[in-house]
Amino acid sequence: MHKFDDKASKILLNVLSHTIERLSMDPPTLDYPKSVKFFEQNAKSLISEAGNSIDTVFDQYKNTIEQSIISVDSPRNLAFIPAAPTKASMIFDLVVSAGSLCGVSWQEASGAVWAENQVIRWIADLVGLPESAGGCFVAGGTNGNLSSLVVAREEFRKKNSGSSKRLAILCSDQTHSSVKSTAIVMDCEVIVVSTNESFQLTRERIENELESHSEKYENFDIFAVVATAGTTNLGVIDDIKGISDFAKKNKIWFHVDGAYGGAGLLSDNVKDLFSGVENADSFIVDPHKWLFAPLDCAAVIYRDKSLAAEVHAQKASYLDILHDDEEGDNPSDYAFHLSRRARGLPLWFSLSVYGVEAYRNAVESSLNIASYTADVIQRSEHLSLLIKPTLSIVAFERIGWDWSDYKSWSKKQLKKQICFVVPSSVRGAPILRFAFVNPGTTEAIVDEILLSLE
Ligand SMILES: *Cc1c(COP(=O)(O)O)cnc(C)c1O
Repeated sequence: MHKFDDKASKILLNVLSHTIERLSMDPPTLDYPKSVKFFEQNAKSLISEAGNSIDTVFDQYKNTIEQSIISVDSPRNLAFIPAAPTKASMIFDLVVSAGSLCGVSWQEASGAVWAENQVIRWIADLVGLPESAGGCFVAGGTNGNLSSLVVAREEFRKKNSGSSKRLAILCSDQTHSSVKSTAIVMDCEVIVVSTNESFQLTRERIENELESHSEKYENFDIFAVVATAGTTNLGVIDDIKGISDFAKKNKIWFHVDGAYGGAGLLSDNVKDLFSGVENADSFIVDPHKWLFAPLDCAAVIYRDKSLAAEVHAQKASYLDILHDDEEGDNPSDYAFHLSRRARGLPLWFSLSVYGVEAYRNAVESSLNIASYTADVIQRSEHLSLLIKPTLSIVAFERIGWDWSDYKSWSKKQLKKQICFVVPSSVRGAPILRFAFVNPGTTEAIVDEILLSLE
C-alpha cells in the first residue's frame, strides 16, 4: 500500500475522473442531511482485516457519503459564511496533499514557506502593516484569534509582571464566538461592550462602559481589545480607528478580527471603512471565507512577528535544529500548532494564476449582489431590512414570522434545492441572513429565494 502499483494508479484515475466531474458540476448540490439510519441501511462499515476492492469503497463514497453534502461552494449556499474556492485553488489543494510537503519549517520545505510568505506579505500590505510583520496560515480564524491573544497576554505579562489582577479581553456583543472560547482556553475574562445602533463597537462605547462600571472592572487587567472588521452575523465593521486610539492610549494590544470581512480591503468602495487597521498588533483573515481558497485556511499576521515566535516556537531537543537557520522562517513558530500542511499554497497558486484584479472583481461582485438584495428587500412589503449592508451580509426579517416559521421555511428550501439559508437572531429576535461570497450567486437566484418568502 506504499507502492505506486496498479491498485494505486486505479485509485488515482478513479479519483481524478470523479474530481473532474465534481469540479465541473454547475451548480454543486445542496443535499439534505441524511439520518444515521440511512447510513446504517445503505452503507455497511467497510473497515475490516482484509480490506475491500477500490470500487466497493469508492462506490460507497459516491452513493452514500457524497449524497449528504451541502456543497459549501454552491451559489445557493448563503448560510453561515460559506466558501467559494476558485477552481485553480481546489486543483492545487490536490497537489499540496500529494506533494509530500510538511509545512512546519524552512528546513523541510523552504520553497513552500517562501511562497506562503509571499501571500502573507500581500495581505500585510493590504492591511498596511510594516516590514516587521509576518505570520502564517492556520486552520481557521478560531486558531488565529487564540494565537494572537496568547501573544497579547505574554506581551502584557512582560511589561506588568507585578500585577495579580484578573486578565481580561475587551470585545463587543457582536464579536465572534471564538473570542469567548479563546478566553476559556486562556482562563481569562471577557468584557463585553454593547454596540451602538449600527451594531458597531466604538471608542465611546468602550470608555462609557469602563467608566460607568469602574468598580466592577477595578480588579481586571485588560490586555487586549478586539475590533471586528466584518462581524459574522451582520457584516458590520467596528470603529477601527477609534478603538485603535483607545488601545494606543491605554497601551493595550490591538487585535483586528477580519476573518470574514478582511477581504473587503480589496474593494476601493469599502476600503476606507477599515481605516485604523494599519495600527493592528495582530490581524486575521480567513481565505476560506471570502478570499476564494478551499477549507481550511486562515492567515494570522502580527505587526512584529518576532513577538509571536517568542511565545509560540516550541522548544525541544528534537526541534532545536529547526531554529538553526537564521535566514528562513518557520510557520510553526507563529501560532498554536506544530505539524501543519502548507495550506497557504492553494491561495498562492490561484492568486498567481488569476491575478489580484480578478480577486478584486470577485469581492466587488459580492458587494453588488448584497446591495441589490437590500434594495429588493426594502421595496418588499413583507420583508424588513435590519440594516443597510456594509459588506456582503444582508440581514432582514420576514414580517409576522416566528422561529418555527423561519425554521420550516429553511428546511423546505433546502429540500427543494432552492437555497441553504438558516435563521439567526439579533437581540433575541429571529432574522434571516444571506452571506454572499460566491460570484456565481446571481440576481435571478436572489429573486427566486425572496419570492419563496412571500
Ligand atoms: C468565521 C469567523 C471566525 C472563526 O473562523 P473559523 O475559520 O471558522 O475558525 C472568527 N471571527 C470571525 C469574524 C468570523 O467570521
